[in-house]
Amino acid sequence: MELAVHGVTHQGLVRPANEDHFVCGARVLAVGDGLGGHVAGDVASRLALEPVAALDTPEATCAELVSALPDAVRAGNEAVLADATANPARRGMGTTVTAAVVCDGNVHLAHVGDSRAYRLRPGEGLRQLTMDHTPVGEAVRAGLLDPEEAAGHPSGSVLSRAIGLEPDVEIDVLEPVPLEPGDRLLLCSDGLTAVVADAGIARLLADADGPVQACEALVDATLAAGAPDNVTVVVAVAAGG
Ligand code: CA
Repeated sequence: MELAVHGVTHQGLVRPANEDHFVCGARVLAVGDGLGGHVAGDVASRLALEPVAALDTPEATCAELVSALPDAVRAGNEAVLADATANPARRGMGTTVTAAVVCDGNVHLAHVGDSRAYRLRPGEGLRQLTMDHTPVGEAVRAGLLDPEEAAGHPSGSVLSRAIGLEPDVEIDVLEPVPLEPGDRLLLCSDGLTAVVADAGIARLLADADGPVQACEALVDATLAAGAPDNVTVVVAVAAGG
């Protein structure tokens, strides 16, 4: 399967720095949304994504990539923790990681935090593939809160799990999700989803000619909504058979 990919990160209009990073390789995609303030969040998301980016070599088989993905996220966790331990100024920094391997017609996801993955399938619509690791997200999962109530929840950005805070982080490794020609895969930080509703994301993804246009449209919509946070989007469009 041919995959066209593109990624964009933008500081937004309010935050003093951009603490998001992304990976946009031939078969490996990822978003990290750093937390910790000053420059610490920026360091956390960069360090966490390095082992994930390193997976994407032409030699690696699909099976090797898929089995190595959770280990790469775990290695990122260790790297952030080690750096924070060695540098007191960065103690307590952390990051989300949502990472995808796309091969053999499937999306394989590993994630921690509230950076999301979505699949848009023409005729079927937008499906969120990840579950936010936030108290609000856990409440939705447990059936205690409606998704509509969760969307505008004031504590929606508090994380219940993050990379870089504990040696034994629980990583969600999801069942493979099929990707067919015409499907669009989106990974994004909450700077997008906090201000652009799913219906808007679906429309912008569907209307775009390709991943470059999709990323530009999603970032433009975030900026038009005031962009209170850093925003990062990585889009893959499956083509061919
Ligand atoms: Ca964010």
